[in-house]
Amino acid sequence: MMLVYAKIDSLQEKLTSFKSNISIGFVPTMGALHQGHLSLIEEAKKYNDIVVVSVFVNPTQFDKKEDLDNYPITMDSDLRMLEEIGCDIVFTPTANEMYEDGLKSEHFDFGGIEYEMEGAFREGHFDGVGTVVKRLFEIVKPHNSYFGEKDFQQLQIIKALVKLEQMNIRIVGCPIYRELDGLAMSSRNARLTVAHRKAAPFIRETLLKAKEMFGTENAVTVLQWVTDAFEKHPLLALEYFSIADEKSLKPIVQRIDNHDYRGFVAVMAGEIRLIDNIEL
Ligand code: AMP
Repeated sequence: MMLVYAKIDSLQEKLTSFKSNISIGFVPTMGALHQGHLSLIEEAKKYNDIVVVSVFVNPTQFDKKEDLDNYPITMDSDLRMLEEIGCDIVFTPTANEMYEDGLKSEHFDFGGIEYEMEGAFREGHFDGVGTVVKRLFEIVKPHNSYFGEKDFQQLQIIKALVKLEQMNIRIVGCPIYRELDGLAMSSRNARLTVAHRKAAPFIRETLLKAKEMFGTENAVTVLQWVTDAFEKHPLLALEYFSIADEKSLKPIVQRIDNHDYRGFVAVMAGEIRLIDNIEL
């Protein structure tokens, strides 16, 4: 039977009742669960005795009030999906439970990766992410924790967080789970208009072409081509496209051997902001 806790104390009472050799896998989410989330949970189930999932829409990582207010909440169906997939423990705290001293973020120095891309376009975002994940890690004390490459920069931030805080937690990155037409699954997809939903696979198609191009052309040419492709698109507005080093997340200056690069994109599809990335 799946156990659901909203209170830190009762969750921790349960967790401390386990023997010390029991491994805990943890998957933090903001709910409105889809197949992408479930793929992380499946991965956690394979390598851990107990799987804990948190469902918490973290206010401090939103830079726009409308975005937070409109974030989809589907707790009943989330719990059904979690039960069905065989999750052991769900943590569903309120904001008051997580932020006793008010809704503020700690400031982190993640070595510079926090200022690129999402960090540049969403003010305070990664301080918010760092604050909530650090708190969740302190509460759940997992051995392994699972994050999607859909939010590749976030995954790198979390790896930096556990180093910075000297937490003994293995951070596991999981591949991007997609709709059949290539659109990366996201809780936000449900809010797309019919026309924008139909247009959205263009993001993935463009990334695939950019990857092919990066094989023979230099980064400047690829950047220009992607920018032009979105400029011609009637429904999708490019916020940024960056070809960046996977480790530093800094935009490529010159290709260096033995460095891995990725293309990262953020696009406005009407009111909805979508992100995606591709290994190059
Ligand atoms: P979220 O609920 O959007 O905060 O996401 C919770 C976790 O699920 C994060 O680690 C995300 O990177 C991951 N995730 C979200 N969408 C996908 C996807 N399409 N494929 C893989 N992981 C995902």
